[in-house]
Amino acid sequence: MKINENYRNLEESYLFSTIAKKVEEYKKAHPEASVIRMGIGDVTLPICERAAEAFAKAAGEQGKAETFHGYGPEQGYDFLRDAVCRYYGSFGVRVSSDDVFISDGAKSDLGNILDLFDCDNTVLIPDPVYPVYLDTNVMAGRRIVFMDANVENGFLPMPPENLRADIIYICSPNNPTGAVYSRSQLKEWVDYANANDAVILFDAAYESFISDPSLPRSIFEIDGAGTCAVELCSLSKLASFTGTRCGYTVVPKELKREGISLQKMWLRRQTTKFNGVSYPVQRAAEAALSPEGMKQCREHLDVYRKNADVISKTLKELGIWHIGGQNSPYIWMKCPGMMKSWEFFDDLLERAQVVGTPGSGFGKNGEGYFRLTAFGTAENTKEAMARIKKAYGCVGER
Ligand code: PLP
Repeated sequence: MKINENYRNLEESYLFSTIAKKVEEYKKAHPEASVIRMGIGDVTLPICERAAEAFAKAAGEQGKAETFHGYGPEQGYDFLRDAVCRYYGSFGVRVSSDDVFISDGAKSDLGNILDLFDCDNTVLIPDPVYPVYLDTNVMAGRRIVFMDANVENGFLPMPPENLRADIIYICSPNNPTGAVYSRSQLKEWVDYANANDAVILFDAAYESFISDPSLPRSIFEIDGAGTCAVELCSLSKLASFTGTRCGYTVVPKELKREGISLQKMWLRRQTTKFNGVSYPVQRAAEAALSPEGMKQCREHLDVYRKNADVISKTLKELGIWHIGGQNSPYIWMKCPGMMKSWEFFDDLLERAQVVGTPGSGFGKNGEGYFRLTAFGTAENTKEAMARIKKAYGCVGER
């Protein structure tokens, strides 16, 4: 038997394990220090009450013969697919419920959707990048072309002039940079994809952070996207479902390649390899998306938005270049004093006992940058910024 040799081409990911090791060592050497973590993308607030109640009620139903649910539809219960459509409707996007596929989160779908595409396809991936896009394609042995995201293009790369790509990854609001594409920029991508017969995999995991109505929350707000884009989304950050696990992918009917509907292919793939998300989780997700649930979710999102604002304002005061933090939970900052990413990581831990994520861990263009997240508590965020102000009061670049 032969193994999948492509796995040999995966680079070991030391990013989060190195961070954990460094923090552990620091704490051992300074047991009295209170370290504030602003590096990991997990949320700190719980799922909303409505969702927790629905979750518990549905779990109770599973314990009684009269209300027990066995295998459900692989693509999700209609009650949740309809709730997702209503959610899209709340920001003016029309999505048909049979184009919606419920899953246990965007990460699984991002990996699984690649089943639909040949391994000979060329893949366009931004650098810096959420590592899942890269590794899932390395595993399949696809040719990967990186597009540089940098200060010159506002960390929002645009379609290349002399390259025909087949699969394009776009994440907006972006992880790790927090940059958000405008409608006209996404239109250029949609036109490029349609002209080149390419498919855009649009990761909208952070769409709920967009409060500026001029910015698109879905690729399907863009004319022509229905024939070239798949959208992957998640309740993880919208409704604190990181540990509860629920997401959805929208594959429009009109999206066809080589005469075949990708929606039909995805349905076939899911019904063959997936047995659906648990009934209580889907009931919890439905409740989170209900008007009352959304009200509670929005209160949580507001806490993170305020945190992002506090971080952004502090960096501005210090004259430290950064993007994100508006319409996004991520803040992407230039390391002060021309430090490299890991150098700043160590410096920040030593001088402020604050932990962030070195930008170099997301790709070569991340060197010299650093990611902070707004997912901490309000109290910790304020305290972390006070410490940063004290430590870096006069080293920022103006
Ligand atoms: N996409 C991006 C850009 C993310 O940052 C994350 C999680 O951090 C995901 C997808 C995965 O989301 P989920 O929790 O739904 O698997």
